[in-house]
Amino acid sequence: MGDKFEIVIVGGGTAGWMCAAACAAKLDPARFRVRLVESEEIGTVGVGEATLPQMKDFNDFLGLDEAEFMQATQATFKLGIEFINWGRQGDRYVHPFGTFGRPIGEADFFSYWIRAHRAGTAASLSDYCFPIVAALQNRFMLPSGDANDVRNAFAYAYQFDAFLYARYLRQWAEARGIERVEGRIVEVEQDGGTGDIAAVKLASGARIAGDLFVDCSGFRGLLMAQTLGVGIEDWSHWLPCDSAAAVPSARSADFHPYTRSTRRTAGWQWRIPLQHRTGNGYVYSGADISDDEAAATLLANLDGEAMAEPRVLRFKACKREKAWAHNCIAMGLASGFLEPLESTSIYLVQMAIMHMLTLLPSGPGIDPALPAELNRVMDVEYDRIRDFLILHYIANEPDAPLWERVTTMAVPDTLADKIDRFRHRGHVQAYRDGLFGPPSWQAVFVGQGIEPQAADRLADVLPAATVEERLASLAATIADAAATAPSHADFIARYCPAP
Ligand code: FAD
Repeated sequence: MGDKFEIVIVGGGTAGWMCAAACAAKLDPARFRVRLVESEEIGTVGVGEATLPQMKDFNDFLGLDEAEFMQATQATFKLGIEFINWGRQGDRYVHPFGTFGRPIGEADFFSYWIRAHRAGTAASLSDYCFPIVAALQNRFMLPSGDANDVRNAFAYAYQFDAFLYARYLRQWAEARGIERVEGRIVEVEQDGGTGDIAAVKLASGARIAGDLFVDCSGFRGLLMAQTLGVGIEDWSHWLPCDSAAAVPSARSADFHPYTRSTRRTAGWQWRIPLQHRTGNGYVYSGADISDDEAAATLLANLDGEAMAEPRVLRFKACKREKAWAHNCIAMGLASGFLEPLESTSIYLVQMAIMHMLTLLPSGPGIDPALPAELNRVMDVEYDRIRDFLILHYIANEPDAPLWERVTTMAVPDTLADKIDRFRHRGHVQAYRDGLFGPPSWQAVFVGQGIEPQAADRLADVLPAATVEERLASLAATIADAAATAPSHADFIARYCPAP
């Protein structure tokens, strides 16, 4: 091996190219050599269209031009996720990428809302949230930049074509020195003494050695699972969906600035509007519906005409026991899988990359403190997301066998504590980093019918009439502000016009 620290990324899906692009942006080429091996013959998973606002942070971190990125990936903006039939049939709520209300007294806004809601004097929680009101009218604008403006109290994400994103990042990363190697890996060579990965060998006979390997090989986990034998924590007893049928449908002229999730008998269906097409899929429990029935349900519930036959994917809700073992870091599908109900997979890739860059060894020989820290933070991320997803499952009418099972199952203690605390006074723990913040939990709790028995004491201080008046005034301000935003389609046509 030469003087440089050699990083070998195995896999060129979203995870691989995001990692390669971050290395290209942030690592000194005089000290690091980065190669990415991928196989066109094997291809990528080809799904993964909905993201979280952190995606914008990642693109900014790379220094991508937003309009160019959106054009290249046929992206639309995303203000949140709409949930239909979750809780009870006919219900609808939105998990927004923004806060509810703004300070109106000593307590936080949500506590005042609970107080007024319990007294029957509050409007729906959604009416106090700018991104929800704008999204449901199909409107979009960038945050105004004025801290006193309700039109600034949100963040946004993207809905994009994951294949085009990987292609875009590939061009971007290759132009900045990342070496791409095409070929199928047929053998992984380990160091006889340490068990570390020494090299990958391709069908062509080429041998690619490295100091650090990043396993972005998808569900196979070519390095982490197949070679190093790192197992998984199986979470399928909490998140029983194990299959998805996915199909693109014709573009909707009125593409929505939000992803939709509709609860169905054996799972739920996504709808993700992009500029050039709509992504759709039915995530289901194979024990509760056949593939054929799932595909038929999906096709019967599309907004536009199907553009292909549904494709079935299999998975298991799980987390890899370690994200970093030996000299290998797993990212993306190789590191575990949480269903796309809250669009968290690409976020997890991003987190793994950011922590990898921070903890990167400065030379051969890895201090065990580095993997220990990466594994700790990734465990925290995975566990929190798991609990948030389970919450969606447990708070529903038991109107089909799947929903009977999940609404009566025992949940992780961490989630049970969260529910207890929320039921008591509406409190949700805020984290300094990571997902998900109080507004996200408030949206899902209230949206699916879990409500606090009382408001925070501090919310008792203002007279009831004052609270009512301030809430009404805020809802009116938000409604007026939303009416000033252009339609999402007009905004996109101006912001990133087709060349
Ligand atoms: P892949 O895309 O599978 O890439 C694996 C790469 O490894 C490929 O380049 C392949 O060629 C290469 N490879 C494998 N074996 C070899 C070999 N032997 N030799 C050489 N190369 C090899 N995430 C979100 O954030 N939002 C969503 O809305 C979302 N929806 C999803 C819906 C479904 C049904 C599923 C299954 C996933 C979804 N995800 C979503 C997750 C998302 O798709 C993935 O996290 C993301 O695409 C990353 O995939 P990957 O790069 O890890 O794997």
